[in-house]
Parts: sequence; structure tokens; C-alpha cells
Amino acid sequence: MAGLSAGIHACRNDYDAEIYEQHNLPGGLCTAWDRKGYTIDGCIHWLVGTGPGSQFNRLWREVCAIDNMEIINRDIFMSVEGSDGKILHLYSDLDRLEEHLLETSPADEVVIKNLIKAARVLSTADFPLEKPNELYRFWDMPLMFFNMMPILKVMGQLSRISIKDYLAEFEDPFLREALSLVMPAGYSMISLVSTLASLHSRDAGFPAGGSLAFARSLENRFLELGGRLNYGSRVKEILVENNCATGLLLQDGSKVYGDIVISAADLHSTVYGMLNSRYRSAKIDESFDHLPVYSSVQVSLGVDSDLTGETESAAVKMDSPITLGYEHNRYIYLTNCSFDPSLAPAGKTVIKATLYSAYEHWEASADNPERYREKKNKLAEQVISEVEKRFPVVKGRIEMIDVATPVTFSRYTGVWKGAYMAWIVPPEAGRFKIPKELPGLSNFYQAGQWVEPPAGLPGSMLTGRHVIQIICSRDAKTFVVE
Ligand SMILES: Cc1cc2nc3c(=O)[nH]c(=O)nc-3n(C[C@H](O)[C@H](O)[C@H](O)COP(=O)(O)OP(=O)(O)OC[C@H]3O[C@@H](n4cnc5c(N)ncnc54)[C@H](O)[C@@H]3O)c2cc1C
Repeated sequence: MAGLSAGIHACRNDYDAEIYEQHNLPGGLCTAWDRKGYTIDGCIHWLVGTGPGSQFNRLWREVCAIDNMEIINRDIFMSVEGSDGKILHLYSDLDRLEEHLLETSPADEVVIKNLIKAARVLSTADFPLEKPNELYRFWDMPLMFFNMMPILKVMGQLSRISIKDYLAEFEDPFLREALSLVMPAGYSMISLVSTLASLHSRDAGFPAGGSLAFARSLENRFLELGGRLNYGSRVKEILVENNCATGLLLQDGSKVYGDIVISAADLHSTVYGMLNSRYRSAKIDESFDHLPVYSSVQVSLGVDSDLTGETESAAVKMDSPITLGYEHNRYIYLTNCSFDPSLAPAGKTVIKATLYSAYEHWEASADNPERYREKKNKLAEQVISEVEKRFPVVKGRIEMIDVATPVTFSRYTGVWKGAYMAWIVPPEAGRFKIPKELPGLSNFYQAGQWVEPPAGLPGSMLTGRHVIQIICSRDAKTFVVE
């Protein structure tokens, strides 16, 4: 996302842009793959910016044909199915959600009302996104402050507390547990509340066709604007002369030269691999040493059964937890992908099961194909038993099984430890960003999820735009968009 976005904005601003991508597909982590006629989507659960006219929607329109895509919005974003038949529906509509939460736990009225109020405030907010931090001048501050007035209080309160700590205020243990399952509970509460806000505004849908089709739309835009894309071109090293980036050494031994190098590849492999640790910063070192990351394993099943009308997204409590390294999963996330019929042959469905998983759990056996396969098979068996319990109709109808581990994600994209949203930055770290330039190295910029975690797709796309804005400013050019 970051690389394609940077490429598109570079072309539009009259730079000659060429992308070198190791894979034979666009999208990086935003991908999908086909197995036995089924499409396994490896990424998008919700995409912020799908609502026409929203702030991120305007930014997506600059880089892809989002306004021509069918967007699937769900009334119930996720259902949490706890023990003893307890169910909590996370309605996208905040009024319905509030009503449902109050019915579930009247004793939590105050905290529920505060939560919903905060989400309502954020659902109408315009964040100052379009200009990178690096280009802010002191005279921009009063205007920024003025624009953000309505949300400053909410932002201040929620960005300083983790989801886990905020939810500790709930008296009802099931509500506490259920709300902590929407996303990793180490994130700051602002992430959860802004997701509820985006769902309410119908700005966090699923683009029909899925992640790879979405990435293809950016690829098209880049090519239409005259960008050049080289697939199967793994970068081994970033060439540097006199502390100035001058080009790339590719895996096949060839060298390419350019005036500016932007890495939209994983930050760890860029800094410690492609740049041989020469331009690391204390912040980057410390972050990789100390900040946690989350990675997940995805077991996808192709079932010869149409599950239309069944629950589409559920976190289901298991009788016994599944432990994958240091991650103890008490819940399994099940997605019945029948909401997008393009992902399976007619009358059939993909069910995706997702669990948190330590990268190390798989890494330990990744060099031993037999052992690695055994581990995958064992997990697939456990998952199938859970899926058959939840959707008994699939028994005897599973005709495709696919297991993608954090090692799989890492192998295909180079992402460090299979991390899907970069580091989990604790709320006390404040507004955490990694500078897009490295100390001592000129003509080099870094984009992507690691520089503004937790970026996700919209944030990663935005970093690509920001890098080009910085370059335009450096070249005393006015940054133009369509
Ligand atoms: C399972 C999963 C679910 C997710 N769900 C969502 C979601 O619902 N919503 C959301 O917004 N986000 C989601 N994300 C997060 C989102 O996918 C990422 O934050 C985002 O895609 C990161 O984009 P990026 O451009 O920074 O990096 P990447 O996608 O990692 O792209 C890096 C690119 O660089 C290439 N590359 C790496 N090294 C080299 C090299 N040496 N030479 C040449 N090319 C190289 C890679 O092949 C890749 O194409 C999810 C991620 C995962 C894994």
C-alpha cells in the first residue's frame, strides 16, 4: 500500500517512478490467494475509508477506484459468543449498540454512555491527516488546534489509556471480555473507539472482491500514470555513496540507479538488511528490542455448503484454549465469507478462522518442512473441530484446508515476525512515529506501517503520500493531487 501510494503520488507530481517488488503480485500484506477455486483473503476485515465523502475515502480516491467498488457493510460487525450461551452483538450502528450494551449490563450505564458518546464525537471528526508532521510549521498550529477542538478532549482521554485498562472500568465481566476481542487489547482505546466510529459512519466496509482486487486497483492507477513496476525483483541492498542513497542492488546482481530511494518494504529488513545497520537510530533499535508485535495464524476452509444467512463474523469461546507460543487463545475468530460470493464457487463458502500466534512458535520448525507441516495439520484439526461445532452443516463438506502462519506472511512479504500492524505501541508512548528519514543518510525515505503504527491499510497508504509531499516540499514544488 505504501509503495504503490508513493509511486502514484510520485508520478502525479511528475517524478519518474519505478517500483521493485520481490513478489509477482501487488499489495504486500494486502493479498489473497486461490486454492481449489476458493479465494482466501489474507487481509481486509474492515477498511477505513470506504464511506463516500469521508476523509480517508478522499485519500483512497486519489490512489484507486474505490468509488467504483461495491462496498459490503455489516449491521453486526462481530458477535462474541461466550460461555453459557452469552452473546454480545457489536452493532455498527451506535444507537443499537448502546441499547444492546445497556440491556446486557445496566450496571455499566455510565461507562457505556461515555464510550458511545466518544464514538459519536469521533464519527464526525476530521483529523489533520493530509499534511505530514514533517511539514507542519508553527503557524499551522492554531488552525489545527481549532479544527480539532471538538475532539481534543476525547482524544486526550482515550489515547492515554489502553483498551485493557479502559475496559477494567466495566463491572460486567462478559462485556469486559467481549469488547477486548475487537482488536489487541494493548492498543490505545482511541483505536477501538475510532473503529466503532468508522463502523457507525459506514466508513469501515469490505470492498467486494477482497484484498488482492483492491491492491490491483492501486496497481492499475500506478501503471495508468506511467509508473513502471518490476515484479520478481528482490532488493538485496540499497546502494549508498557518501551517505547518499543512489540506487538498488537486486538479488540477481543487477544494479539500478535513481535520485531518490524510498523503501516501502519492512523497516527491519530495510534498516538491518538492505542498509546493513549503518543508518539505524536509537528509536528504531529500542522499538524493535522492546515493543511487542501481534501476529496471527489463519486457517481457511473451503466448504461445499452455502452459509448465506449464518453469522458472518464471530469470536467464539472454545472449551479448551489453543496455545500458540506465548499466545493463549480462549476465543477463535470465525469469518463466514458468504457476504462476498466472489470468494467461492456458487453454493460454496470460505470460512476463515483466525488465532493470535507467536511468530516464534512457527519459526522454531520453519526449517523442518515435515515438522512444520505436522504443526499446521494439528492446528487445522483443532480448528475444524471448533468450526464443525459452530457450523454443524459443514461436517463432511470441507474440501479445502489452508493454513497461513506468521512465517507464511513473513516469507511472502518480508514483514518482521509476521506482524500485521507493526508494533503495539503502549498509550504512554504518546504520538509515536518513526522519522521517515534515517540519520546520516540523504535521498532516502521510509514509508509503510512501521513509521506510523498501527497504520493498517489507510495509514500505510498515507505514509506513501506523505513521503512524496516531503520530497515535493524539498524540491520547492507544490504537491498536486487529482
Ligand atoms: C492477517 C492480516 C489482516 C489484516 N487486516 C487488516 C484490516 O482489516 N484492515 C487494515 O486496514 N489493515 C489490515 N492489516 C494490516 C495491513 O495489511 C498492513 O498494515 C499494511 O498492508 C502494511 O502495508 P505496507 O505497505 O506498510 O507493507 P507491506 O504490505 O508489508 O508491503 C511491503 C512490500 O515490500 C515488498 N518487499 C519487502 N522486502 C522487499 C525486498 N527486499 N525487495 C523487494 N520488495 C520487497 C513486499 O513483498 C511487499 O509487497 C492486516 C494484516 C494482516 C497480515
